[in-house]
Amino acid sequence: MSLIPFDDRDGTIWFDGHLVPWRDAKLHVLSHGLHYASCVFEGERVYAGTIFKVSEHSERLAASARILDFEIPWSVAEVDKACNEVVVANNISDGYVRPIAWRGSEMMGVSAQSSKIHLAIAAWPWPSYFSPEARLKGIRMCWAKYARPSPHTAPTGSKAAGLYMICTISKHAAERAGYADALMLDWRGQIAEATGANIFLVRNGELHTPTPDCFLNGITRRTVIALAEEHQIKVVERAIMPSELSTTQEVFICGTAAEVTPVAEIGEYQFKVGPVTRMLMENYDKLVRRGGKSKAA
Ligand code: PMP
Repeated sequence: MSLIPFDDRDGTIWFDGHLVPWRDAKLHVLSHGLHYASCVFEGERVYAGTIFKVSEHSERLAASARILDFEIPWSVAEVDKACNEVVVANNISDGYVRPIAWRGSEMMGVSAQSSKIHLAIAAWPWPSYFSPEARLKGIRMCWAKYARPSPHTAPTGSKAAGLYMICTISKHAAERAGYADALMLDWRGQIAEATGANIFLVRNGELHTPTPDCFLNGITRRTVIALAEEHQIKVVERAIMPSELSTTQEVFICGTAAEVTPVAEIGEYQFKVGPVTRMLMENYDKLVRRGGKSKAA
């Protein structure tokens, strides 16, 4: 990954309706989004110049904002169009798109009823989240210190910036201890997800994945479920306790950034990169490069 800081690059960023020079896409330090985390975002991948499932991402962005009690002043179709414009303007072939919406500076307190809502969209070239070597061998994960909160404690259905506090702390601790990522349990002690990706277990040829009742039901997760069903693999969504990892043959995580990435180790448990994971990795790769066109799309 490039070490050029993200605020000092060439290119253009879509900012409140206009493409502006990259370095000019700034907000004031007294912004509600920064102080009170009234901020939602998306992460999208571009494959061969096409954003994979762009409308699903734009729809989730609007839904995330509504959960935080604000309305993005651009329609889903307008956000789709702006995302595509940014990809073209920056000549991105394989990369990442980051739309972000936040409350502005009109009010500086917990209440921000009349704050202006801003939207910016940036895109940059980005090959792979985990190293190609890790993706072949499977990543090593440890247990996260924090648990995903209950939906009564936090707006867990929103891709809200504030929910990533515990992800960054957990991922930092994992990386310092030599792991690629951390697995988070939920407040009940059930397996939830990685710090930026959903998780699947392969058990006797079936796919088992936690019910997404306190974390994102990822777009990749839903794509993987459709791909598995297309290949006659049974998918079971249910509560999964960590002890079940001892009788699990394969594990993988998936997300827009992580794609389908095999897991070799979670704490005391070890797994093989097996045939089901390999088949789903290959088919996910094929699907995204076809622009999402398949029965599973
Ligand atoms: N969980 C978390 C915490 C994430 O950040 C992501 C990535 N957006 C996911 C799951 C997977 O979601 P998606 O497949 O829509 O990228």
